[in-house]
Amino acid sequence: MRAISICELKVELQSLGVRTEGDKRGRKSGAGPAAGMVLLFDNGSQVNVPTMSWFVEDSPYSLHPIAEDRFILKYKEEEITTVAAPPIPRFYSLKTASGIPYWKIALLHGKDCLSTTVLQHCIHWNTKDVCKFCAIGLSLREGRTIARKRPEDLAEVAKHAVELDDVKHVTLTTGSTRDETRCVKILKDAASAIKEVADLAIHVQLEPLENTQLFHELKSAGVDTVGIHIESFDHDVLKVMAPCKAKLGFDRYIKAWESAVEIFGAGEVSTFIIAGLGESDRSIIEGSAKLASIGVYPFIVPLRPIPGTPLERFAPPEPARMLSIYSEVARLLRDYRISWKTSRAGCVRCMACSAMGDFEL
Ligand code: SF4
Repeated sequence: MRAISICELKVELQSLGVRTEGDKRGRKSGAGPAAGMVLLFDNGSQVNVPTMSWFVEDSPYSLHPIAEDRFILKYKEEEITTVAAPPIPRFYSLKTASGIPYWKIALLHGKDCLSTTVLQHCIHWNTKDVCKFCAIGLSLREGRTIARKRPEDLAEVAKHAVELDDVKHVTLTTGSTRDETRCVKILKDAASAIKEVADLAIHVQLEPLENTQLFHELKSAGVDTVGIHIESFDHDVLKVMAPCKAKLGFDRYIKAWESAVEIFGAGEVSTFIIAGLGESDRSIIEGSAKLASIGVYPFIVPLRPIPGTPLERFAPPEPARMLSIYSEVARLLRDYRISWKTSRAGCVRCMACSAMGDFEL
């Protein structure tokens, strides 16, 4: 019998993917780590696992249905454990009065996070500055979402997602806009409309604001936590993989993170750091130490090569590399007393796409 902890299992699944027999539920594309499905472990941990990328067919892990939403997870021929998948949300069967299916407005992420890209357009899409790992424009092109989610529709979906599916928190993201004031307005209108109808903690993801006073407006609209995603601390890597972010410069991120921590509190501000873009382990660990020292949570994820993106033929980092990075950064987080457990909403609370929280335990 293969002895493996949930931490190690989560890391292996994220790097190697899982083969499925027909059940490919999960979103194919969109912002963030798509092309996977969420699995729930009996200890309460959850993992978003690649199921659609090219390397998955070589994975030693496979899923075998034993009941509705329940599977045996095998490593080669050996049974490792049983896992569940979140049931298809009941709110997905509803439509707005104007006929838009709720699932085109927002999706369930993990077991209890309602997630949406409020503005599905990004000014960098189809330009040389686009983030090479991002799939924000693909779901729009394929008709699986709508370009702009109206605040009143988001509120309607959130209300039903709470009532029917016990959703607990919300992630609002957006493509880049030319004008940060407009971006903040879009996010705060969405947040305040949701807060009016549902008692949900709200996370927003946005670019590092130049006018940091705008963070106060988000807070007043009911936003609880903020993600400002640098993706990599290696500037040369960033110039190739996310040129639009490299152009903003590291100092702008630092200023935005520090201002956001003053307003939202330590541990309520986070950034995605993608491992596997060509950076060194050192850059991730030193970058995470800097983040933790100013109260920002380093949300480390292995690269998810999404079909249809320029990185679709890349491979995620090896599990051994991720184990070592997670272990070292978990020690740093303990030293700086930053923990995912205090986060009220968003990816840090969900933790399906990162094993960082599991290593803190
Ligand atoms: S960690 Fe974030 S992107 Fe991943 S499933 Fe959860 S809410 Fe979605």
